[in-house]
Amino acid sequence: MAESGEPETTVDKREKEEKEANSTTEEISFRSLGVTEVLCEACAALNWTTPTAIQRESLPIALKGKDIIGLAETGSGKTAAFALPILQALLDTPTRLFALVLTPTRELAFQISEQFEALGSGIGVKCAVIVGGVDIITQAMALAKKPHIVIATPGRLVDHLENTKGFSLRTLRYLVMDEADRILNMDFETESAS
Ligand code: AMP
Repeated sequence: MAESGEPETTVDKREKEEKEANSTTEEISFRSLGVTEVLCEACAALNWTTPTAIQRESLPIALKGKDIIGLAETGSGKTAAFALPILQALLDTPTRLFALVLTPTRELAFQISEQFEALGSGIGVKCAVIVGGVDIITQAMALAKKPHIVIATPGRLVDHLENTKGFSLRTLRYLVMDEADRILNMDFETESAS
């Protein structure tokens, strides 16, 4: 029943649900989910005022270092949902070749790298994008500098693991499989496998 004593209509119900959803969202911040100050500042600099649904669900768990499988659409903020916990762990334990993000396409790899760089600009994070269609020697030189984060398409990464002297993933602490369904189906762009 609505407050007036009238039977509650579908519109009343929707209004109530939206009000509840909004009030919950307002209370939750990156800080309240456990994100450290310098990274909260990076989010604020990007004008991210509130965490998105996938961020609210995953950040508290991922920040504890637990494994996560997430399902969220493109544009839902899923990149930051994995980038923030990785950057926070990197702040705690600065290590070269700390995280690997596998992604099915070159385009996605560059987009992911941009977000890592934007969120990690205040902490000096170094990323390398390892994808097909780009000069392999230049990439080998980038890997030799031992970036903190490697964002790669699978085919080119395997190429470097087999042929680039001194490059290994032994120090890795975090592995992300972005769009894992596509990666596991080996359904990535032909050129990214080259
Ligand atoms: P993604 O789903 O990772 O491809 O993210 C899509 C877009 O959402 C990116 O351009 C991000 O800059 C943006 N974004 C991520 N998190 C937030 C947030 N909490 N608030 C506003 N925009 C965000």
